[in-house]
Amino acid sequence: MTPPLLIANATVLVPGARPRVLRRHSILIEDGLIVRVAPSGRFGRVTGQRLDAAGRVVLPGLINAHTHCYSTFARGLTTIKPARDFAGVLKNLWWRLDSALTTEDCYYSALIALLDSIRHGTTTVIDHHASPQAVGGSLAAIERAVRETGLRACLCYEVSDRDGARIARDGLEENADFIRRCHGRDDDRVRALFGLHASFTLSDRTLAKAADLGRGLHTGFHIHVAEGHGDQEAAWRAAGMRVVERLQQFGILGDHSIAAHCIHVNRREMELLAATGTAVVHNPQSNMNNAVGIADIIAMTGRGILLGLGTDAMTTNMLEELRVALWGQHLAHENPSVGFGELVTALLANNAKIAGRVFGLRLGEIREGAAGDVAVFDYDPPTPLEDANLAGHIVFGLSQAAVDTTIVGGRVLMEHRKLTLNLDLERVHARAREQARNLWKRM
Ligand SMILES: [Zn+2]
Repeated sequence: MTPPLLIANATVLVPGARPRVLRRHSILIEDGLIVRVAPSGRFGRVTGQRLDAAGRVVLPGLINAHTHCYSTFARGLTTIKPARDFAGVLKNLWWRLDSALTTEDCYYSALIALLDSIRHGTTTVIDHHASPQAVGGSLAAIERAVRETGLRACLCYEVSDRDGARIARDGLEENADFIRRCHGRDDDRVRALFGLHASFTLSDRTLAKAADLGRGLHTGFHIHVAEGHGDQEAAWRAAGMRVVERLQQFGILGDHSIAAHCIHVNRREMELLAATGTAVVHNPQSNMNNAVGIADIIAMTGRGILLGLGTDAMTTNMLEELRVALWGQHLAHENPSVGFGELVTALLANNAKIAGRVFGLRLGEIREGAAGDVAVFDYDPPTPLEDANLAGHIVFGLSQAAVDTTIVGGRVLMEHRKLTLNLDLERVHARAREQARNLWKRM
């Protein structure tokens, strides 16, 4: 059990419908939960660990609602053919890379991505994993990395028919086994969803099996939706319907499910996503990089869809992703004032709701009863910081500041920019480079 932790004398930013700046406040975390937030003078002696945050700014730990830790090993890879479109990106890069992953690669790529997350104040990660030649045990390998870093993570395996029936079956089993294991323990660090790659690589048969298993396990699904035009074209060819309609027909949508991207969805599909309570996760950096388009988040939030923000592995820095999301909306709508409220809400409120559904915890809040997940920034505001302009300071100031300390469930994972984990970081990085070099040779 983690001893009580007092974060003292901080400037606490409380985002939300009524944003507030709490000056010289302290936060007490016990048994993983925030038990008290009050002016520092009101605290008597507190036993346990004390962290002085005077002159620093505290935000709730950030949440990445869609990523792929295995993508770590694509960094610096030069032996891939340039792609002309999204299908080419998948064939030339991602499907070659993930097919060469071993279980050990899954562990090391996750470890690096999670350590990077800590450095950027990201405390919860919702991952979507694929390693078709090493399916069984891949989620356990990622789980090992999650536990060694102390973060929270929701894991799943991307079931797909792209590599044939046997590997699709292995993917179904890997999800089901892992979900059962998560159900069987009282644990708020590692959770699971049922992973599916995307409609265009899933046959009716596999979708039906996944839906059946997922229903029996009382779990939601995590799937890419209408990321490229090809997903819609394939759904039309296979089923004579749109992607979201096809998923709805199989029972994949729902208030515990995550549909990543949703760029090429029409009004009817948005209405289905809203009516079923399915969360949509926007990943603008990845979408721009793959040249697949920019999701109409204004139309989606306007219809009541719960919209979150993910990075699709382009970064572990959620504030960087938030900024790019904003510029993307400005460009797409040719309007420099559009999307600010929607996107700040996506990152700071909706991601917490999406992750909260999976973890059964109050995440993303600095208040009594919420999880003790906190990011402390080295930020001395050079202009007045007030309730009314808190979001402006987050987008234009905190995003450019260093994260000083990261805490999950009251456990300090990084203090004064140094990771405090029981890991030999030099050895981990050396080993990751070796794994990557060998992986690239096999590709
Ligand atoms: Zn993705």
